[in-house]
Amino acid sequence: MGSCNVVEAISMTNPLDPEEFRRQAHLVVDFLADYYSNIEKYPVCSQVEPGYLTKTMPESAPSQPDPIEAILQDVQKHIIPGITHWQSPGFFGYFQSNGSTGNFLGEMLLSGFNTVGFNWLASPAATELEMVVMEWLLKLLQLPKSFSFSSGGGGVIHGSTCESFVCTLIAARENKLNQFGTTREALCKLVVYCSDQTHFSLQKSCQVVGISPNNVRTVQTKKSMNFQLSPDALLKAIEADVKAGLIPLYVCLTLGTTPTTAVDPLYSLSEIAKRFHMWVHVDAAYAGSACICPEFRHFLDGVEGASSFSFNPHKWFLTTLDCCCLWVKDRTDLTKALSSDPELLKNNASDTKEVVDYKDWQIALSRRFRAMKLWMVIRSYGVTGLREIIRKHVKLAEHFEALLLTDKRFEVVVPRNFATVCFRVSPLANDSSDEDSNRLTQSLLESLNGSGLVYMTHAVIGVYVIRVAIGATLVEEKHVNMLWDMVQEHASRLLAIT
Ligand code: PLP
Repeated sequence: MGSCNVVEAISMTNPLDPEEFRRQAHLVVDFLADYYSNIEKYPVCSQVEPGYLTKTMPESAPSQPDPIEAILQDVQKHIIPGITHWQSPGFFGYFQSNGSTGNFLGEMLLSGFNTVGFNWLASPAATELEMVVMEWLLKLLQLPKSFSFSSGGGGVIHGSTCESFVCTLIAARENKLNQFGTTREALCKLVVYCSDQTHFSLQKSCQVVGISPNNVRTVQTKKSMNFQLSPDALLKAIEADVKAGLIPLYVCLTLGTTPTTAVDPLYSLSEIAKRFHMWVHVDAAYAGSACICPEFRHFLDGVEGASSFSFNPHKWFLTTLDCCCLWVKDRTDLTKALSSDPELLKNNASDTKEVVDYKDWQIALSRRFRAMKLWMVIRSYGVTGLREIIRKHVKLAEHFEALLLTDKRFEVVVPRNFATVCFRVSPLANDSSDEDSNRLTQSLLESLNGSGLVYMTHAVIGVYVIRVAIGATLVEEKHVNMLWDMVQEHASRLLAIT
């Protein structure tokens, strides 16, 4: 039997037939364009019950190919009801993940090329475009030159901040253990510092790298200090540990904390860390994007004292998941800790040591060509367009905050730094206690979210607050005004029955 017969036995069209690809991809683009046109018709937060999809879907995979038309009908009928519409202009929850046409086209290109650029040779453009984009962003954020490739540092795109935490923790750990001995005893002495406002994924990252939860110091913050990590409190915690024979390893400072967007005082905190030869990581997952605007750049003052810095374009930079930009001051800290050199990947370019092999800057071997979408975003909107979007969201947040301040029934609980406003029903609204206010604020949030028109999330910072994160790409002033009308109306109803 010749090989020709074997091929003839397969009836299916080639899964990458160019003409079928063109036809089907156009249908999907049309489907998504309609989705965006109609997005306000869907409840922002999905209202399905657990198990809704598993009950409707067939128990086994289809044995024969389904046409794209039938698949898209099922997406409309079964998948969309179970989607929480993060791109809806009524989405004010968590921190947004705002998309854009430039990003989607970049995603199409990177999926289309489907490179696996673990080292330079595996796809030189993937590596070099990433280096170019990271240097562009470094300049845009006015990060110190010491983070640049030309100064021995450099930038890499990770999938998440969590991955950046793990990689920088490993780099810091290996550095320290090289001084104190790579023993279990030394590992058990390493201590990591953060505040009670630091993103919870730092705790998990510490566990992943073998730092015991008992050795993670969560320094308490105070409302009177706007929930910033206090240099005095950090110093006290470090000194107590040193006295107890422990080894300070790493401190995570945050620019734009998740509950309230607080900004830690980078300069004074990193000066303290320097005295104890600690690794300083600055997590600007959300607010880093704002620092491309000159008027917000001051929030980054002091970043020169950091060993590493990261921000998530997949939050507030028109770029979708997954995209976290990490810079380090000394790239050998990362590569010494994360390199592998298997025979399978040996090649002349890597041997010269003159190329970047990004597999040695991350956990996994394989990697997506994420620079493609970030490059597309930056080129599609330019620095001017990107700054305009940030400024628009900040202005809308200012507007919403000003509206809240006109009504004594509400309290803006912390000063707004960026485009997120934290408020609650004021205890003064009906002469009540913090507990009553917590209960009412929670009921208000549930009532607003239950409408399906908007979606917000909460934080507990001593008291219960509603967080309004403004940053959806489609959001306009009319959506913020609608939210304000709803807040007043739902609050009036709740206050009338208390
Ligand atoms: N750090 C901060 C300040 C965040 O707000 C978040 C997520 O909202 C993270 C870290 C986690 O980011 P990722 O999902 O990329 O790991």
